Amino acid sequence: TTPLPDLVIVGAGLFGLTIAERCAEELGLRVLILERRHHLGGNAYSERDPETNVEVHKYGAHLFHTSNERVWEYANRFTSFTDYRHKVFGKYQGQVYSLPLNLALINQFFGKSHTPDEARALIAEQASEFDTASASNLEEKAISLIGRPLYEAFIKGYTGKQWQTDPTELSADIITRLPVRYTFQNGWFSDTYEGLPTEGYTAWLSKMADHPNIEVRLETDFLDPATGVADEFKGKVPIVYTGPVDEYFGNSEGRLSWRTVDLEESVVDTDDFQGTGVVNYNDGDVPYTRIIEFKHFHPEREKTHLPGKSVIVHEYSRFAEEGDEPYYPVNTAEDRAKLLKYRDLAAAEPMVLFGGRLGTYKYLDMHMAIGAALSMYDNKLKPHFAEGAELKSGGIDA
Ligand code: FAD
Ligand code: UDP
Repeated sequence: TTPLPDLVIVGAGLFGLTIAERCAEELGLRVLILERRHHLGGNAYSERDPETNVEVHKYGAHLFHTSNERVWEYANRFTSFTDYRHKVFGKYQGQVYSLPLNLALINQFFGKSHTPDEARALIAEQASEFDTASASNLEEKAISLIGRPLYEAFIKGYTGKQWQTDPTELSADIITRLPVRYTFQNGWFSDTYEGLPTEGYTAWLSKMADHPNIEVRLETDFLDPATGVADEFKGKVPIVYTGPVDEYFGNSEGRLSWRTVDLEESVVDTDDFQGTGVVNYNDGDVPYTRIIEFKHFHPEREKTHLPGKSVIVHEYSRFAEEGDEPYYPVNTAEDRAKLLKYRDLAAAEPMVLFGGRLGTYKYLDMHMAIGAALSMYDNKLKPHFAEGAELKSGGIDA
């Protein structure tokens, strides 16, 4: 019989890979990663399209950005990053605007040039309809920040499509990040560091697992009794579980709700379909939320792309049904009540730590998933394996 590994990780996404790399490299542990898909990398996984040689992010566009020095330094051990700076444009009633809401958009939308002070005064007047502090839903909050005309053009239709819920019934905190910039600065992110992995996501993520102490077993579902892995390892070795927390407990407290995105990929017969990586479709009656054109994420690879063709993806958002990929936690009051119950169950589960986007039911950007994994390593795994501390399950943050 083969000896048990020191640590089993369920899920080969950024959270699981970070834990695996730290435990193997720094503590010399033998780590087994179980992954149910046919590839590692979780949702950050990408592939070169065989026809055009364009790198396609298979689970939606992934842009790396962080202000966390430690995460940036850590990520750079496995890959360098290009100097790509993400920009997003929005189409509304036949015009294209530069997002996020900024002075260029305000001038174009209202058909007149404004100084920053004039624009501030204009938006303040339009936003006076609701008070931000007492706004009780997404619509009131957005209007209190940007006024009704901009809300109706750029937020209402897009948010309705994205969430399939009327904005008056959505939580105000979905759009806490809705700044208006009274400058022409139109970078989508405001972080210190930004870029795309030079050789692509899969090269980066594979390098994290490329260690003699790490074994990755693909197409192995931890929860599928036919694989036998749960019986083999549960209660015998520490497990870091990064799959959906409700599934782990057989949905005993009910299913947590998620949104999924249908990604319709196509190759079009043009060198350049839209001139930029991401165009949002802000009109409520266009069925998709945005179109991604992947070649624009890597302008430095231009010569390697097949001329005359481009890969684009239309994104359609909808509630996830059983069997769909869970992408964004919906996080209704009902979900939060269920999550509290799962948190109690998780805290009582011996030798299992829950982490990552699915394990904690939290929308985590890549840098947040890496940061959270480094914290779990520092605070729980290293003290346990290096100093003999008891392995305390922390449950899940609700
Ligand atoms: P995941 O990447 O989801 O990995 C979990 C892994 O566990 C999966 O591979 C899954 O197959 C596996 N698994 C689950 N259950 C089991 C089981 N029972 N047995 C075995 N394996 C199992 N972040 C950014 O920073 N920038 C972006 O631009 C960005 N864009 C995004 C766009 C979309 C559409 C989505 C959905 C996410 C985006 N993210 C972005 C977030 C990014 O994908 C996450 O930060 C990252 O995926 C988190 O890693 P994770 O390991 O927690 O989860
Ligand atoms: N949003 C919007 N109009 C836009 C872009 C974003 O109304 O043009 C709102 C929408 O509610 C969305 C939220 O802002 O759910 C977050 O958008 P972002 O593009 O940051 O989210 P992503 O889908 O990329 O995670």
